[in-house]
Amino acid sequence: MKYIFVTGGVVSSLGKGLAAASIGALLEHRGLKTLMQKFDPYLNVDPGTMSPYQHGEVYVLDDGAETDLDLGHYERFTSGVLSRMNNLTSGQVFDAVIKKERKGEYLGKTVQFIPHVTDEIKSRLHKVTDDNPEVDVLITEIGGTVGDMEGLLFIEALRQFALEVGKDNVCFIHVTLLPYIKAAGEIKTKPTQQSVAKLRELGIQPDIIICRTEADLDEDNRRKIAMFCNVEKKNVVAFRDVAHTIYECPLDLRRDKIDRLVVDKIGLGHTPSPALDDWEHFVRRVIHPKNKVNIAVAGKYIELQDAYKSIYESLIHAGAHHDTKVNIVRVEAEAIEDHGAKAVIGDVDGILVPGGFGDRGIEGKILAAQYARENNIPYFGICLGMQIATIEFARNVCKLRGANSTEFDKHTPFPIISLQEEQKGVEDMGATMRLGSCESVLFAGTRASDLYGGAERIHERHRHRYEFNSEFQEKLQDAGLVISSVSEKEGLVEIVELPNHPFFLGAQFHPEFQSKPNHPHPLFAGFVKAALDRAQAQ
Ligand code: GLN
Repeated sequence: MKYIFVTGGVVSSLGKGLAAASIGALLEHRGLKTLMQKFDPYLNVDPGTMSPYQHGEVYVLDDGAETDLDLGHYERFTSGVLSRMNNLTSGQVFDAVIKKERKGEYLGKTVQFIPHVTDEIKSRLHKVTDDNPEVDVLITEIGGTVGDMEGLLFIEALRQFALEVGKDNVCFIHVTLLPYIKAAGEIKTKPTQQSVAKLRELGIQPDIIICRTEADLDEDNRRKIAMFCNVEKKNVVAFRDVAHTIYECPLDLRRDKIDRLVVDKIGLGHTPSPALDDWEHFVRRVIHPKNKVNIAVAGKYIELQDAYKSIYESLIHAGAHHDTKVNIVRVEAEAIEDHGAKAVIGDVDGILVPGGFGDRGIEGKILAAQYARENNIPYFGICLGMQIATIEFARNVCKLRGANSTEFDKHTPFPIISLQEEQKGVEDMGATMRLGSCESVLFAGTRASDLYGGAERIHERHRHRYEFNSEFQEKLQDAGLVISSVSEKEGLVEIVELPNHPFFLGAQFHPEFQSKPNHPHPLFAGFVKAALDRAQAQ
């Protein structure tokens, strides 16, 4: 196996994850089998418990791992199947070391950062290598910024690892910032020089430097960076701000032949240069769509760029599929409580209520679902959004006053959504989350079944604690709610929908984790199509 390590310098938020994912996409187009992973230096064992304000979206994998959102980029840009082995945090590393120490596995030695912690990090690289013999290139992104104290052990582990597997099998890529100083009208290379110097101090000479830049990178600056950072000029690659969409990133990086540079470095230079027709076609459709729809996303962390990342991306994929620009109207659910649904989302073509935890904004979301149902506006509820749609239906169609989820009202007379243990009268099951992929049965003749192309079984990823309460199933069905999918094992409700509505569907799972640029998720595709039909009819 060959290895690419992507580090970052100067500042965070440089698009390091996108750069790594883009390289993955380009290498895959060369016919190479790639696998991507992320090392995060923070001490949390995983981002599952972090607030969206800290971390943006928690991205869930098939195996139920709660991971960094960069893994979402990896899965959207490449076809490699990721597992919990592909996201390593300092928290996991230290946890493993301490557990071994307690078990006496270090045979009485003094347990130290070097070699024990660095060995633990390297062991993950070896394990992923051993578990994936078919993979040609493993791409590992190191979170954080070079020079941060918390990243030092990872950098040291990579330095040792490169020696062990042979430097010719490893390509170090450093992503830095070239700030543009307006008053001077100049790009500045000093921060890049200093960041590379820092990396070299730690024993790593980058092979390629990716320079994030607003403007283009001229020959003079390339020469300067090459000279002071000790790399060849051709290995200084510009990574420009893309004009329209992140899916332009691989195309931009290819302008400076990043894939060629990488494969030459690791001895895979015989692979053909990629045709990117499918990718270019997708990007064209994103940039020059024929149609336009306005879709409201009514959530709780709406002001954050990254809190609903995968949902926004899925809407872009579905939009491109229908040659449509999806204009996302970000709506604070609480604003609907204050001003009413008509005032806030009266003129959109579709309403999406995403997943969430906690009761802030709940009533606003319920008003949004009601408004969509009563006014024939396409509605798509995801996880919490499905629960919201069900509660709204129970309250306003079945007239179950005070219906709610026990997450928000422990004493509701009608616990339409509740914990499984509450439903079974079992205590102390620990209220664990349903996490990861799960097989569900789809019922023929439903809209969901149509959208999935008549499939009988689907596999979708979950991340929630509360479930549709089977006690109320019959009552809601009698009133017209259709249950179109249940989980294979426990018969838990997975999809609800309303017939006689242009599109009203709620999914207990997270379809947004399985949508890809040229393969939009069928539920997103169906939702955007319904919104488009509405927009065109008006
Ligand atoms: N809070 C809800 C639950 O735990 C929904 C979770 C979600 O939307 N991801 O069931």
